[in-house]
Amino acid sequence: MAPRAQPLPLQRIIFLSVSVVLCLQVGWWIRLQIRDSGRLLEARTQALRAGRAQAWQMDSMKLLTILHTQPDPSSRDGAVEGRVPAMPSLAERRQMIQAAYPQVELVPRPMAPDDPLMLDGAAFLTLRPAPLKELEDERWHAVFRASTEGAFMVFAVLFGFVLLYRKLSEELDLKLRQRNFTSAVTHELKTPIASLRVWTETLFTRELVPDQRQRIRGLMEKDLERLNELVGNLLDVARAESGSLVLHLAPLELGPWLAGVCEGMDHRLGPGALGLKLECSSDPLWVDADPKALSTVVENLLSNAYKYASEPRQTTVTLDGDGEDVLLVVSDQGHGISAKDLPRVFHRFFRVGDEMTRQVAGTGLGLFLVKEIVTRHGGEVRVSSRGPGFGSAFTIRLPRRAVPEAS
Ligand code: ADP
Repeated sequence: MAPRAQPLPLQRIIFLSVSVVLCLQVGWWIRLQIRDSGRLLEARTQALRAGRAQAWQMDSMKLLTILHTQPDPSSRDGAVEGRVPAMPSLAERRQMIQAAYPQVELVPRPMAPDDPLMLDGAAFLTLRPAPLKELEDERWHAVFRASTEGAFMVFAVLFGFVLLYRKLSEELDLKLRQRNFTSAVTHELKTPIASLRVWTETLFTRELVPDQRQRIRGLMEKDLERLNELVGNLLDVARAESGSLVLHLAPLELGPWLAGVCEGMDHRLGPGALGLKLECSSDPLWVDADPKALSTVVENLLSNAYKYASEPRQTTVTLDGDGEDVLLVVSDQGHGISAKDLPRVFHRFFRVGDEMTRQVAGTGLGLFLVKEIVTRHGGEVRVSSRGPGFGSAFTIRLPRRAVPEAS
């Protein structure tokens, strides 16, 4: 038997491994970017410092040159006063330095530990804060850009992966459900056919008293009913899928119609077997509906309330108005549905549990059909359950219509 549709652990392992490798790769790439931008910053800071050193050198050379051309006070003839260049003022030296090295500034106190003192001790040479800050900002900008690009890359690739993974899981899930469906349908067809064969042989080969014949007839009718229901469901599903499920909508008063459907199902499933309680509003509730299709809906829900509950069953069907709508609720005290399965029960071929543990026969098409038909009536169907063992409730909401004039 095929196991219940689950994403393969192998897929998960591959997905997780690829995600981890990708994250590491991008992390490594971000680290490289940060390191490179750090190196670039360092190189550019060094260049600025070199400029400061050159400024110091230029100023010192100038001073030394002037000092060396000063007349020697011990020499008698000495240099001619007018030819000796005058010692520049600090303001002139500042102007000269800044013209050649705009990033360098003259300050009375050192701003950084390695700021050099000018040769004559007049001031310190320091780097202006603006270019340094600019470099620092540039670096953080580069780090930020690398990080966001990396994060975006990881996000984009992982997002693609998740989509692919989900698509693959869905495909796999549908395939497995289809496989389960085929074996379930085969089983559903074989069982009543085998039973009918036995009863036919018994009828034709044995002497039976009228009571026995009557009982066998009842059992054969049930088998035929089961086959009829299955084939009907299969046909309706095929029609719904191909878009050829035609509904003949006409005004329908739900109260009396529902009582009739419930009575019919109670009779079919064995009088009293459902423990059915019908609570209908005393208001006349009318909708536009196809009575045959809507019967299929209620019959499927009641059939499930029977199949997925143990004796003694307690099934309640309520019908009430809710503003512009009509609410029809079928609830039971049966096996219930876990929160994780609730969103999937209306999916085609979905059945709770796996083939090994399932006790109840079914095809996983009933609720799919219920949803299709209700939706085609302009309504909606919801399921709720407080979990396994606490029963389930299916709520159908249909648009209410005014009471037709003739009635
Ligand atoms: P089927 O009954 O043929 O398996 P359905 O489409 O009618 O298919 O139901 C899908 C699944 O939903 C069922 O297999 C069952 O596990 C779960 N389910 C439906 N109705 C009930 C209910 N009343 N109580 C508990 N489980 C239910």
